[in-house]
Amino acid sequence: MSGNKDIEGEVVREVHLKISPQYASVQVIPKAEEKNDKNFPHNLHNAAELFLRVGMVENAERLRETTDSMINIYASNPDGKTGMRIGNGCVCWSCGYCGIPKDYKDDKKSIHSKKPGPCSNCGEFEQINWLKITHKDGKKVKDMPWIEHAPLSEEEQKKKKEAEIAAKRKEIEERVKQALKDRAEKEKNIPK
Ligand SMILES: [Zn+2]
Repeated sequence: MSGNKDIEGEVVREVHLKISPQYASVQVIPKAEEKNDKNFPHNLHNAAELFLRVGMVENAERLRETTDSMINIYASNPDGKTGMRIGNGCVCWSCGYCGIPKDYKDDKKSIHSKKPGPCSNCGEFEQINWLKITHKDGKKVKDMPWIEHAPLSEEEQKKKKEAEIAAKRKEIEERVKQALKDRAEKEKNIPK
């Protein structure tokens, strides 16, 4: 079993290295009953470390993937319209997913007055907290919304699939055309 333990330790180290210090700028908002809990992880950096400490590597990975995706979208200067979902993010302790909850509606209510969740990935609605992204702009600290790729609708998924098939077909056609051309060239060069 020691072999397994080694691999596990390796994975933990690897995830650890990938956890960006930037995660600390995403605050986890405690619920009323959690406000006095000294062990409460106050940001996503603490949350990722907590997952690793208790051996929930998969959760740490999911937290990392979803949070990196959000950071990358911001880094690419999104227009915030095409294929994006914007709102208040949540962290799910059950699966590690970070993102906008299921059936989210932006009703402009403060996150302190409404219940977080349910998790878009696993449906958890108890072990979940709101997130708040803070961004330092000079001396001012601004709150930023969570941003993520909108899941494709059934219709969009179908279109995407059809486009992929059409592209593949075109690629094959091109290849066949080229092969025929090559052969014709070769035949021309064969001395009679
Ligand atoms: Zn979840």
